[in-house]
Amino acid sequence: MSVRVAVVGSLNIDVVVRTPRRPRAGETLIGTSAGLFIGGKGCNQAIAASRLGASVAMVGRVGRDAFGEQLLLTLRREGIQATHVVRAAASTGLASILVGDDGDNSIVVVPGANGDMSPHDVEAAADAVTSANSLLLQLEVPLDALQRAAELARGAGVRVILNPAPARALPPQLLGVVDVIVPNEHEARVLTGVDPAQNPAGAARTLRRQGIGVVIITLGGRGAYLSSAGVETLVPTFMVQPVDTTAAGDAFCGALAVALSERTSLHDAVRFANAAGALACTRLGAEPSLPHRADVDRLVK
Ligand code: ADP
Repeated sequence: MSVRVAVVGSLNIDVVVRTPRRPRAGETLIGTSAGLFIGGKGCNQAIAASRLGASVAMVGRVGRDAFGEQLLLTLRREGIQATHVVRAAASTGLASILVGDDGDNSIVVVPGANGDMSPHDVEAAADAVTSANSLLLQLEVPLDALQRAAELARGAGVRVILNPAPARALPPQLLGVVDVIVPNEHEARVLTGVDPAQNPAGAARTLRRQGIGVVIITLGGRGAYLSSAGVETLVPTFMVQPVDTTAAGDAFCGALAVALSERTSLHDAVRFANAAGALACTRLGAEPSLPHRADVDRLVK
């Protein structure tokens, strides 16, 4: 039987527009291409976990618009339980991403329906949260909804995994109900004031002092630093030819939730997550780059 992962988080449509350069105020430019893509850290991590073999339930909000429809169709196509994705009056979350020929981008995120998620939404999905092996959270929906989800999970003995992205300071109350925290370098620096590139052990110690049992700081092409009782180690990632690192962190978090739910040892779970993160770097885009189980298993071997 497959393990169960619940994700409480965001669902977005990414609108990606390529232009030779970014426009100045008041200027109209002719772009070179445009595309719509599935996104939102919650949705990406749910897809990652599902492709790696978990039975996934998504808890979130989309609008009653065409983008919301597209997200729901995608969840169903990926075999993700979407009964707790509410169709709300607000518009579906949207990220407008402008990419110049120099590769630099400018991004505007409109949370839309994601921003209206409430503790009540989470309570309505309590069965999905409390029957999971792991609960996976990010920071693209309101903190009170996340707090409620983590408390429900805690009460049922469900492992709470927090990817604190995008970076922001967090109340001790939320950190107090997290079992595993997975920040990248920037997020770890914002949460601790310590530079994890120089001192990963110091950054991890600062987080563990706040009561979090397992700290995993992702370090891009270097892998991930793992800190828990009796374990302090850098787990190197796998050598790949990176094409686009978008969603590497989402692949890593989805994979970690699956491996920990399967009761893989912490070290092996981080190795598995590194393999998923590395594979996500070998393909363009977010959702299209999230790897499948057979490919991750092959790389881990
Ligand atoms: P984020 O995508 O949130 O910025 P990171 O850049 O730290 O997070 O990447 C997350 C994980 O993806 C890393 O811990 C690693 O496992 C994998 N990864 C990222 N970049 C590379 C790379 N160049 N080569 C191999 N693995 C990578």
